[in-house]
Amino acid sequence: MKKKLSFIVAICMVLSLFGGIFAETSYVPGTYETSAKGFGGEVKVSLTVDEKAIVDLQIEGASETPGIGDTAIEELREAILAAGNADNLDTVANATMTSEAVIAAAKDAFVLATGGEIAKAEATPVKDGTFVGVAPSYQRNGYESKTVTLTVTFENGKVTDIVASDYSDTPGIGGMAFDVMADRVIRTQSLGIDTLTGATVSTSGFLNAMANAVAEAGGNPEEWKARPVIKRAPRVSELSCDIVVVGAGIAGLSAAVEAVTLGADVILVEKEDVLNSSTTRSEGFIQGAGTQFQKDNGVEDTQEALYEDIMKVYGQEPTVEAELIEYAAMHSAELIDFMLENGVVLDHLEAISKNPPRDVPRNHCVYEGGSGITTNLYKSFLEKGGTALMGTPCTQLITDGKAVIGIKATNTYGDDITIRAKNTIVAAGSYTADNELFKQLNPKQYFAAEHASGSGSGDAYRLGQSVNADMLHLDFVQQMYYFFSKNLSGWPSVIPGAPLTSVITPATDVIYLSGGGERIANEDEFCFDYIDKNFHLGYDEGWALGGKAFQEAHPDVVEIGLTSTLTFKEGAMCYTGDTIEEVAEQAGLDAKVVKATLDRYNELCDKGVDEDFHKPAEYMVRVDPPYYLMRMPLILTDGYDGMRVNINAQVIDVNGDVIPGFYAAGSCAVAQMSSVRYYGCGTSLLLGGVYGRVAAQQAVADK
Ligand SMILES: Cc1cc2nc3c(=O)[nH]c(=O)nc-3n(C[C@H](O)[C@H](O)[C@H](O)COP(=O)(O)OP(=O)(O)OC[C@H]3O[C@@H](n4cnc5c(N)ncnc54)[C@H](O)[C@@H]3O)c2cc1C
Repeated sequence: MKKKLSFIVAICMVLSLFGGIFAETSYVPGTYETSAKGFGGEVKVSLTVDEKAIVDLQIEGASETPGIGDTAIEELREAILAAGNADNLDTVANATMTSEAVIAAAKDAFVLATGGEIAKAEATPVKDGTFVGVAPSYQRNGYESKTVTLTVTFENGKVTDIVASDYSDTPGIGGMAFDVMADRVIRTQSLGIDTLTGATVSTSGFLNAMANAVAEAGGNPEEWKARPVIKRAPRVSELSCDIVVVGAGIAGLSAAVEAVTLGADVILVEKEDVLNSSTTRSEGFIQGAGTQFQKDNGVEDTQEALYEDIMKVYGQEPTVEAELIEYAAMHSAELIDFMLENGVVLDHLEAISKNPPRDVPRNHCVYEGGSGITTNLYKSFLEKGGTALMGTPCTQLITDGKAVIGIKATNTYGDDITIRAKNTIVAAGSYTADNELFKQLNPKQYFAAEHASGSGSGDAYRLGQSVNADMLHLDFVQQMYYFFSKNLSGWPSVIPGAPLTSVITPATDVIYLSGGGERIANEDEFCFDYIDKNFHLGYDEGWALGGKAFQEAHPDVVEIGLTSTLTFKEGAMCYTGDTIEEVAEQAGLDAKVVKATLDRYNELCDKGVDEDFHKPAEYMVRVDPPYYLMRMPLILTDGYDGMRVNINAQVIDVNGDVIPGFYAAGSCAVAQMSSVRYYGCGTSLLLGGVYGRVAAQQAVADK
């Protein structure tokens, strides 16, 4: 993504919304006098307020052109009084400079009147023109550069336009953050603004690149950084709509887009300023069967086959409800169509594994990964007339004692926002990033919480609890085991930002050991079978044992393992030695067990047949000294505990009744569709997308 995204539209929508909706503003009573340079001289504004209203507004421009400037002043004064602020005013024709001075001075007066501070007025000697600033930023997978380039325009000592013209950051996170930051810098004329949570590296990069652009323009970056930042006082607001959606991951965005497409009046609230969801961080693989994309790529498949294949894996799990899985599989092609209709671009198809039941190429891999899903759905939502409040966490559900009738939310200003809605859809993700909740729900896997890579805030769980939803518990989370290597070509880096890489690709010349040192799976099989067995044996980490052949095939991996500073359970990531006993002992494993495993494996290699786990003969490569025993830490990609729902995505309470007006979808309502033996990448996004849409369809029908 090299061009400026159209998120500025979103920002404008949010701002204009706030400009118009606040029936009541809290002021600090007093008279505030401000000024700005007009056409002929200073334009002065004097604003008097009491706690709740404007008492008086005087604007004086004695040096402005008679008949032009004074007419503009009067017109703008009336417009400001009508709007209650100076946020969205147009300049008056033929009186641009006078108008800009009135608007600037009036804005400053409102900032002071609501308890804020204004930036120092003294001009910084930046030259007019367009300048470029470059600084290091976030490097997403596959990008060689790791910088952000800003093209910045200065006019009359002020920054008027900032375009992130080139960057290596994730579009839905860093890319979106750049637009948010550009808006804030232009609004405050300061580089003293905060970085954004969830996009700290990118937004620090942005501020450094801006400082470089200021320097290029002849200004003093330190002075720009020291400028005070305007922050207005908190406000109270009341909004209403047909449907409020909480959370902008795949589930929330699918719900929001579906609802707005069906003609509903929808408000989407998202906690973060940017689309920093698990969905954005994901690979962006969505399972779908019987799709046109499959046909175009010569793949014959049916939705029925997808359902049957998933159930071959999930069938034994007592908590899985087949009906819910069936519905999702039978609407998977429709979900892929929906994605395409809303701007998501498919790149290619992939199978999860070489072996049944995961061998059909059904993973619809989205161009730009998870970010390609969220940025496009978000854009489509806005284009279809939806309202998005970013940086606006939902803090509470409002009920009438029985039904959910809306939400309370807040934002960076501390506003008290009430949104009344006929229906509420919570799609606020899982809880794996909330340490306390994680510890409480999954104490056995808690030690691995620091390796959780999703964005689960736990808020959805708490919102469900607050209205007596039936909260389902599974004693596992979505787990993976990863090697310690990073950025190696041919090794998919599954966890952005974490120095860990999937072990799936070269699993042919190693033995996977359980946490106890036994061989438990065909290493060539998809790793969720291994995870399932290791989990049920009670282990929380695994090992990969390689030898000379592995070292020769993957010298870089071994090198990284041996020199890794990453520690896990206070142990090293890789041990080496000439005898199997010495490496096993270093790793704290029972040397006899590991030796027996190795001897048996080598015996099968010599025979050329894997009698134990049926790994294809060509991959049965002996493991000979020197040995490399590589730790495979448990990594968490999702949590499953959450609300019970029915097939209409309606939330069920502790008595088994539907909670009127309340829907949930995605990771916060997926417990009935999950197994520790995960069907594989793409299943979560399928379930989130399908049930997000279902929630919207039902909510629209109920309105
Ligand atoms: C590294 C990684 C790779 C993955 N790859 C895949 C894959 O390829 N295919 C697949 O199927 N699955 C994958 N998964 C799992 C998948 O990403 C998740 O299951 C899925 O994204 C969950 O979607 P969601 O919409 O439920 O939640 P999320 O995508 O987490 O979205 C929830 C949103 O709610 C917001 N929110 C939280 N609290 C509040 C609040 N109080 N108010 C307002 N908003 C709030 C969050 O900020 C977030 O934006 C992967 C997961 C990870 C971590």
